[in-house]
Amino acid sequence: MEAIFIHDLAIKGVVSRVACREVVDSLGWFDPRVVEEAPLSLKGTDFMTTVAFYDTKPYDREYFERNADSARLDWRFHEFRLTAETAASASGAGAVCVFVNDRLDRRCLEVLHGLGVRLVALRCAGFNNVDLAAAREFGLRVVRVPAYSPHAVAEHTVALLLALNRKIHRAYNRVREHNFSLSGLVGFDLYGKTVGVLGTGKIGRIAAQIFRGFGCSVIAYDPMPQLAWAAKHGVVYADLETVMSGCDILTLHLPLTPATHHLLNETSLARMRSGAFLVNTSRGKLIDSTALIRALKSGQLGGVALDVYEEEEGVFFEDHSGRVLQDDELTLLLSFPNVLVTSHQAFLTHEALSEIARVTIGSLLCLEGESGFSGDAVVV
Ligand code: NAD
Repeated sequence: MEAIFIHDLAIKGVVSRVACREVVDSLGWFDPRVVEEAPLSLKGTDFMTTVAFYDTKPYDREYFERNADSARLDWRFHEFRLTAETAASASGAGAVCVFVNDRLDRRCLEVLHGLGVRLVALRCAGFNNVDLAAAREFGLRVVRVPAYSPHAVAEHTVALLLALNRKIHRAYNRVREHNFSLSGLVGFDLYGKTVGVLGTGKIGRIAAQIFRGFGCSVIAYDPMPQLAWAAKHGVVYADLETVMSGCDILTLHLPLTPATHHLLNETSLARMRSGAFLVNTSRGKLIDSTALIRALKSGQLGGVALDVYEEEEGVFFEDHSGRVLQDDELTLLLSFPNVLVTSHQAFLTHEALSEIARVTIGSLLCLEGESGFSGDAVVV
């Protein structure tokens, strides 16, 4: 009975898709045929694209909703992540909007395709969590935000290194307890040290320039070197082994691919300078955590700052303070005095969140056919 009621309203054009959804939501169920069966005349511009938004955090919603074009889309915000198991919740949506820890494997994409979803909009730069071959096969368009604020991530990289090296996190806690002793807080000057940069894309180049500003030497490896940029900023390119073995601080700014998975492993970590510092704000699986723990225990690594972690999915971005952490390796890493971990927050600035919302909404509105997708946003 309810279905006929809603359907009738849709056919008469009395209510928009948003209003339809409000009625449906109040009834507590949704049948996508309500929209699918509506006559073609009602599927045009007066029907907004429904976007199923996953892994929603308060700041996501705030920045997406405050964007001027947000009202042109019909948002369905979910706090849970998108996986094959939760994909049925995209029923009735034309697009899904996802983040780094949603898992769009083949099974998930198959379900989305079956539901009529046409677009996967990643509100991040990396796309290693999407099976691109399967997306191609199912005719799903995948877009991302290629650059929202490389400065945000590069600056967080340097902030982590400074805090770790100068033990700011420990000093902060001490002083709050009125312990003004300096024992155990000795760091080193960044000036004159050699920083190795793996990946000189948008973020790596800015990080390298900041380190040059500190008076560091910067050596870099990238299969696609930016020679003019390097000459301008006094950065020297070298092969991967030379960079890894020739620096005091190694910072990672490369994508996670099958070729870079566990690039930092037992063998490569052993080649680094004894006592070197390692910073990773790129992707957790670039580092083999078991090998990392060994290198820290033996003193091969002097300090490690991580904004990403191999098994961060389901842990990072959430409050686990009232529970026992199940990941033994993460628990161990957090117990080391020379390890500093942030919870994938390098992107989290006002500028980056505004830009993520602007670019993602622009891509989602392309589904209405108003304009084409921006070339550098298209992954598939
Ligand atoms: P980018 O595409 O602009 O640059 C990546 C660079 O890595 C390219 O120049 C590429 O040639 C190079 N590269 C590819 N394979 C390499 C290899 N085997 N060795 C060395 N270099 C290699 O990417 P970007 O925007 O600078 O992002 C860098 C990393 O930062 C990505 O992993 C991205 O997912 C991550 N990221 C993290 C956050 C965060 O909040 N922590 C936010 C944004 C991006």
